[in-house]
Amino acid sequence: MALEQFRLDGKVALVTGGNRGIGLAIAKLFGEAGAKVMMTGRTLTDAAEDLCKSESYGWVQGDVTDPATPARIVQATLDRLGALDILVNNAGIADHGNFHEFGDDRLAAITDTNFIAPFRIARSAVMPMLEKGAGAILNIGSISGEVANKPQLQVAYNASKAAVHQMTRVMAFEYASRGIRVNALAPGYVVSDMTQGGIANEDWNRIWTENTPMGRFGQPEEMATCALFLCSDAASYVTGSVLTADGGYTTH
Ligand code: NDP
Repeated sequence: MALEQFRLDGKVALVTGGNRGIGLAIAKLFGEAGAKVMMTGRTLTDAAEDLCKSESYGWVQGDVTDPATPARIVQATLDRLGALDILVNNAGIADHGNFHEFGDDRLAAITDTNFIAPFRIARSAVMPMLEKGAGAILNIGSISGEVANKPQLQVAYNASKAAVHQMTRVMAFEYASRGIRVNALAPGYVVSDMTQGGIANEDWNRIWTENTPMGRFGQPEEMATCALFLCSDAASYVTGSVLTADGGYTTH
């Protein structure tokens, strides 16, 4: 009985940024756990297209910074998969640079993608959950939302993730009595295009590794298992929590 609580049979999940990285790992695991999963992103990757060969998966394209996208992707989930029980607000971007040189366009891109979009998507998703009197929302934050991580130079990103964590706590407070749990996951340094693409270099990787007591990066699949717990009935008494999964980075 207890183990079955980790399954998602009969549930429908919407995973933003489900086409690659952490979101893709979450989409895969949720499908394996029995859920139907709607994936979103700007580009349909081969991996997401492959998953869509199974009728457990759907794809809806959308740029989450477009104000029309949040309501549209929620409606697409309801129309095509018949319900919305779980939202994973995962889509996000990173950018770094000196605070005094961080221009308005970059600030807007970070804020729009990492905070305003998850706010709008959760606002749309909560409506069918309120009607049902049940639901689980998981916002992918970051340890950067809790501490000034090394290497530094990510003020806008860190602030956007702090906003996501606080949105999580206050939404959890508001909806706890109405059957909707709201939690956040705060990953440390996880291997993905975000960390191994543009912003990373050898120094950056070395500094992260040296500051992570486990001495290694996390894998997207290790974030997905945390997400599964938080979105499943196994976490039925967990709401307003920010679960850290960082190899011990924030212990010191
Ligand atoms: P990736 O860069 O691999 O993936 C980012 C995802 O977000 C992609 O699916 C991308 O879709 C989507 N996305 C970005 N911008 C938009 C947009 N405007 N509209 C729609 N979708 C968008 O990063 P990760 O998998 O590493 O990151 C996932 C989440 O985890 C992010 O919120 C990130 O901040 C967070 N995180 C990651 C950490 C890490 O070390 N990797 C650490 C802590 C938190 P598309 O491909 O279509 O652009």
